Amino acid sequence: MSNEKQTIHDFDINIIYEYFSNTERQGPGNTEETLKALNFITGLTKKSKIADIGCGTGGQTMTLGQNTPCEITGIDVWQDFIHKFNQNSINQNLQDRVKGIVGNMENLPFQEEELDLIWSEGSIYNIGFERGLNEWRKFLKIGGYIAITENTWFSEERPDEIQEFWQKIYSEIDTISNKVAQMQKAGYLPIATYMLPETIWTDYYRKQSLNIDTFIKKHKGNKAAEEFASSQRYEAELYNKYKAYYGYMFYIGKRIK
Ligand code: SAH
Repeated sequence: MSNEKQTIHDFDINIIYEYFSNTERQGPGNTEETLKALNFITGLTKKSKIADIGCGTGGQTMTLGQNTPCEITGIDVWQDFIHKFNQNSINQNLQDRVKGIVGNMENLPFQEEELDLIWSEGSIYNIGFERGLNEWRKFLKIGGYIAITENTWFSEERPDEIQEFWQKIYSEIDTISNKVAQMQKAGYLPIATYMLPETIWTDYYRKQSLNIDTFIKKHKGNKAAEEFASSQRYEAELYNKYKAYYGYMFYIGKRIK
């Protein structure tokens, strides 16, 4: 991105990306949980194709690369993340079959029924859970799998403060049973639905907060950066207070029609 041409909006986005690019994962998740989800997927061979949508710098994609023999494409809208992704792939000697490309999840560059597995951790909210499930299905072979994580309500009733916070940020946040019903309605057989441990979020916020002081110092006086950092702090505080009511779930489905 060229600096002269940036709008204020782009600049804000740059700050956000910078904030997230220093950690191995940009969303809540870890290797152990990626491997657990991968255990539900059967029949992957050297000829199978996987797409990791909203892959970030590829923390989870490298785990998929090391633990499957498949050809894997990571897609992310942010070029700097893809640059890091491809560097990671080279560092782990996976570059022949794990490649990152810049692309948009709203317009994926795959053929119909090309993929054996769609992976997406902490990303589908960008297009919306239902829309993503519906639009991405055609790229999967019949019998292919989708494995996604999504922020979810754990109970039918929530305190107003947390309800309002998430409603504003992601109005599609919903209960487990509604999410599973959406998956089924979109043409997938729900294979597994389970909760990610609380530590994926506490670790995520802890890692971010290690960067926060340096980040604030670097952008001292920049209002957008300061506001962004304090919004991240607030989100972490809310999580500690209300974690009984929501968290990340893994949803694994199989295309059946
Ligand atoms: N899956 C990674 C990153 C999650 S963060 C992990 O778990 O660590 C969400 C990612 O979605 C970011 O990398 C962001 O750049 C990407 N993203 C946001 N909107 C997107 C879009 N429209 N198309 C593709 N990627 C998108």
